[in-house]
Amino acid sequence: MLKTIQEKLATTNTKLVAVSKTKPIAQILDMYHQGQKVFGENRVQELVEKQAQLPKDIEWHLIGHLQTNKVKYIAPFVDMIHAVDSVKLIIEINKQAQKQERVIPILLQFRIAEEDSKYGLDISDAVLLLESEEFTTLKNIQVCGVMGMATFTDDKQQVKAEFQQLKRYFDLLKNRYFTQNPAFKEISMGMSGDYELAIKEGSTMVRIGSLLFG
Ligand SMILES: *Cc1c(COP(=O)(O)O)cnc(C)c1O
Repeated sequence: MLKTIQEKLATTNTKLVAVSKTKPIAQILDMYHQGQKVFGENRVQELVEKQAQLPKDIEWHLIGHLQTNKVKYIAPFVDMIHAVDSVKLIIEINKQAQKQERVIPILLQFRIAEEDSKYGLDISDAVLLLESEEFTTLKNIQVCGVMGMATFTDDKQQVKAEFQQLKRYFDLLKNRYFTQNPAFKEISMGMSGDYELAIKEGSTMVRIGSLLFG
């Protein structure tokens, strides 16, 4: 399955984040030896434990909701934090990154699903954040793009519309705030059930778990 997905992505410039949550070390290592070097976890404790046991050239992404009091555990090594959805969280990530003398790449999570999801920014929140004076002082985070999760539904039209919404948010922010910033380039959208649709709608990073690991 890994090869099939990699081949599909190869022609599209989309990065595969292999979502290894709940999967044992041996299975991750096996996939690593098949050439997959980017893995995503959604829980801090699991991420920390796995990172300690697995090869150090793995690129680790935290894709799930992050509580501010847990940022310190992943700040030394995390390669990207996908689900950043509050000013408070950004400030904490910046603080912990500063302690580690590094810059942590982050994505802004947007609420695009129809269901009343607890997490994610609205575009007005993002505008306020990016225009705030405080934001300009944060030197230890790098905003690399946006992330979103579509509604869990078989209705392809709805999922498509939600991905298009996220793409519009990306374009708006890119044009307004990041035209001079090549690092702002990622649209993290698409999972096992909808990644092909996500790629058609402009995804640059798909987060695939069950389809890969079975
Ligand atoms: C679990 C998870 C995925 C992967 O879901 P699959 O349907 O198993 O591919 C992607 N993104 C997030 C945020 C997740 O928690």
